[in-house]
Amino acid sequence: MDKTLAQCRQLKLKKFRVETIYDMQFESKYNDVIHQARNCNVEELDLNFQHQVGRFIDVTRVSGYKGLVSELDDMFEFQGMLVNGNTSWHVTYEAFGDANKRTTWQSSLVVFCFAWKVVLGPKDNGGLGVGSISALNNALMLKWLWRFKNESSSLWRNVVNGIHNSSRKPMHALGKKTLNGAWYNSIKVLHFFQKVGINLSSSYKLSIKSGSNTLFWLDDWDGIGPLADRFPQLFDLDKKKSCFISERMRSGTADWAWKRRPSGPTEIADLDSLTGLMTQLRLSDGTDSWVSLLSPDGSFAVRDFRSLIDSALTVAVDHPVVWIHIVPIKVICFIWRACLDRIPTSSALALRGVHFSSIDCPFCGNKPEETNHLLVDCSFSKEVLARIYKWCGIDVIQFSGVVDLVRFAAVWGRCPKKRKLLLAVTYGYIWSIWRARNDKIFNQLIPSVGKVVDEISTLVFKWVKNRGTFGNCNLATWFCSPFDIL
Ligand SMILES: [Zn+2]
Repeated sequence: MDKTLAQCRQLKLKKFRVETIYDMQFESKYNDVIHQARNCNVEELDLNFQHQVGRFIDVTRVSGYKGLVSELDDMFEFQGMLVNGNTSWHVTYEAFGDANKRTTWQSSLVVFCFAWKVVLGPKDNGGLGVGSISALNNALMLKWLWRFKNESSSLWRNVVNGIHNSSRKPMHALGKKTLNGAWYNSIKVLHFFQKVGINLSSSYKLSIKSGSNTLFWLDDWDGIGPLADRFPQLFDLDKKKSCFISERMRSGTADWAWKRRPSGPTEIADLDSLTGLMTQLRLSDGTDSWVSLLSPDGSFAVRDFRSLIDSALTVAVDHPVVWIHIVPIKVICFIWRACLDRIPTSSALALRGVHFSSIDCPFCGNKPEETNHLLVDCSFSKEVLARIYKWCGIDVIQFSGVVDLVRFAAVWGRCPKKRKLLLAVTYGYIWSIWRARNDKIFNQLIPSVGKVVDEISTLVFKWVKNRGTFGNCNLATWFCSPFDIL
């Protein structure tokens, strides 16, 4: 098996089936198989664990079953969208004894899912912008630490300060470990940032005014890291390690308080560098403050940090959808799903075990109803798109799929306003084709190209009129060409 998979490591396998005898090494076996399959981007993985004849096993009760499910869950979350934009993992795992009794205790599970980490991700990263609760919670907690640093005269800060004695402590030590509670839990948010690999110091800077509120050695006030970490030997020599900047800098010159004078080549060199650093520092009247680098005005916004966390926790995918205000969110969500081949076409449902008498395209009946066929390749859809593009004055282009179509509209032309209109028209086209398909299947309404074209132009006009900011928005002009309203 290893050899087979290794040979086609860079290929994309449609299906890989493994049949093996169940034994005590069950867990290591499935781990190996999943690992190998993941490396090869296998679309469909069949794991068949066959037990020795005469013994019955309910696969859901074997010790490795939960581990397998959890491993698969992780795999989908991480790998779901990376495999291919228009396919999903199809995993069947089953256990059976001898062939005759297979139906008695076969257990199989077919898993199709969205990659949850993609759904949660910011829209700029190809996600749906849902955001995780965890990111929101941690951003809200961080806000309290931010306020603690910036609201030096507020009553609540003085109360916390009185309890935790945190006026001369760096950010990560603002709470006493022995006083476990709400405040100490807020401090723990810093561990979370560290754990998910976010370097907080790159998202804020300290604005130094009088220097009477910023720790000289322990706060990262020049954006490179605390001086205590960069000059550890000098830090050891200072009599007051929790001094403020204003206590080490008086009248524009350094005011040291050493246990002994720095000596030796390293300490002297460090002192020179440190003195050079301090000559660049200009103190003035006012209070030191923390400035966010994520917002234009420097103030702390929960949404900025939430988005920062979501970016770190989620998986970025290359997605063509552009979110434009004039198109309703439900429509863009549908386009988003269509581009990932996650709309409930007959073929997709059949693949998930929903059985139909026919899975043929409701328009032409010649091919199975798949996303790309229905929305782009079908002769009916092609005719609608050709008329719509003719109305827009764009030459007919052969698109390879719905992703290609959306990507074309997203980068078309040089005028942003025209591009936005073409995107709205393209989204309207996909949405209307889907509605025509539903009308045919559920209401037995025979679709007509002219009717769908009219529907698209009217629908998009409503969006543009009600949600857009285009000046000359009248229907007669619109019907001539959508770009005439500009
Ligand atoms: Zn068709």
